[in-house]
Amino acid sequence: MSLTRRDFTRLSALGLAARFTPGLNAQSSSRKIGYAIIGLGRIAGNFMRGILATANSSVTGLVSGHREKADRIAAQYGVPAGSIYNYENFDEILHNPVIDAVYVALPNSMHAEFTIRAAKAGKHVLCEKPMSSTVAEAEAMIAACKQAHVKLMIAYRCHYEPVHLRAIKLIRDGAIGQVQSIQSAFGFSCDPSDWRLKKKLAGGGPVFDVGIYCLNATRYLTGEEPVDFEAFASTLDHSGRFNEVEENVVWTEKFPSGILASCSTTYGAQMDGYFRVYGSRGWLEVDPAFNYDGPRLRAQYWGTRLDEQSPARDPYQFAAEADHFSNCILNGLEPTSPGEEGLRDMNYITRIYRSAGITL
Ligand code: NAD
Repeated sequence: MSLTRRDFTRLSALGLAARFTPGLNAQSSSRKIGYAIIGLGRIAGNFMRGILATANSSVTGLVSGHREKADRIAAQYGVPAGSIYNYENFDEILHNPVIDAVYVALPNSMHAEFTIRAAKAGKHVLCEKPMSSTVAEAEAMIAACKQAHVKLMIAYRCHYEPVHLRAIKLIRDGAIGQVQSIQSAFGFSCDPSDWRLKKKLAGGGPVFDVGIYCLNATRYLTGEEPVDFEAFASTLDHSGRFNEVEENVVWTEKFPSGILASCSTTYGAQMDGYFRVYGSRGWLEVDPAFNYDGPRLRAQYWGTRLDEQSPARDPYQFAAEADHFSNCILNGLEPTSPGEEGLRDMNYITRIYRSAGITL
């Protein structure tokens, strides 16, 4: 990841440099937090490459149902054979001192089981979003981690992304005046073989996987918790792809101040992620917003025009979140996106589906 002096100065001024620059937080300690990666799929690959860019984290264990794949990745990251587990013998990580934490990158409905088993083994947990497939699971995950005195963080990578943080700061500083409304969308055309279309593994449709970015953004942009939801869902493709989950969901949110948000998500079309915020003095948008590199912020308010793009490239967002969680573990701090943050979204997702007339 490259950070220019100008970027660093700007981020320092915002108090964000430490979040943006993996390793900065580790300067007080040479100890690295060792992560066991559970589920060696697509996002786990990004996360492991992100870990390599940190100074305070390393990959020290792998958990997979496919031994050959695990052996190949172990060779790449220098993980010894004794630190490779499968889903059955996973609990033995209890006895492995080089594993401090686990990163859960499994299908949504498996997050709860592996978070709770990891907590019982005394390991800290960084769990992918959505936190779980039900509210009850999310509550059980928080309780298990509290009981075991281990930390739980949900991998909301945008919370650690400088362009998103800059957008939040501009709004909080009143640059665009009183926020009135927000628009956001994110979606893609889902492959028929993807586990995301199996309700038992995914919990539900696109709000769980991609709509959650819009939902979460409306909350961090406003700094408020939504009080009302109204939603619609539809399925246009009747080929069988959407036998278990819906294809499209749109919803509106109302916040206590009166701010309104409208969001769209889909598994039926390419919908590049963005958000646009309208205020009484101007507007700002981040577009693209939710991909892995190069979010771009544009804004216009009272004679000011901004056009800023993150100079950093994938996997810096994953490095930033790993750096943050490791720093929390090393220094006894609470993560910015703890389990309670994931639980809030699970509650809101449930309300969105209820409003759309869908039983989860
Ligand atoms: P993936 O399909 O690429 O990987 C899933 C992994 O789980 C694979 O290694 C697979 O072998 C394993 N697995 C174990 N049991 C399985 C089962 N019964 N069915 C299917 N796979 C099984 O998925 P992914 O895209 O890496 O998503 C994993 C998690 O990460 C999901 O919760 C997803 O929402 C989240 N995710 C987060 C981001 C992000 O940017 N933060 C991006 C993509 C996915």
